[in-house]
Amino acid sequence: MAIRQIREQGDEILTKKCREVKEITPRLRELIEDMIETMHDADGVGLAAPQVGVLRRIAVVDVGEGPIILVNPKVVLTEGEQTGQEGCLSVPGKAGIVTRPMKVKVEACNENMENVTVEGEELLARALVHEIDHLNGHMYTELVEGDLFEVKYEEEEPSEDGGTKE
Ligand code: ZN
Repeated sequence: MAIRQIREQGDEILTKKCREVKEITPRLRELIEDMIETMHDADGVGLAAPQVGVLRRIAVVDVGEGPIILVNPKVVLTEGEQTGQEGCLSVPGKAGIVTRPMKVKVEACNENMENVTVEGEELLARALVHEIDHLNGHMYTELVEGDLFEVKYEEEEPSEDGGTKE
């Protein structure tokens, strides 16, 4: 396993649409392991493959309950709304206010290409849609209400309304 370099906003790769995964090759398995390690190392709650320079539809999310691996994820249901602080590992030190669904249901494959359904509320819902946006070349900064602001992540305390990096 290895920690990969996280691409930052301004890097064109973050604006590109990712390709579907047809099979998990040893290389993609290694990518998934590295993405989990990179996300944890950066104290993020999610990471998408384009953020480490790979245009494949793979994302990992961990809101503190263990990593969830999503291959070819699709949002199939959304419910309600939440407005709160959101950040991104590709936009270090900044955050903004974004409205997202309160609940989402995602269909995906896991690392063994078995179908999985992930339902998330609150932070998990926010992280899921944020990562899936990355796979379509979209950044949360396109959705920010008002301006981005500076945040400090030193105190490791993901509160209900923010302090998350995805
Ligand atoms: Zn992000």
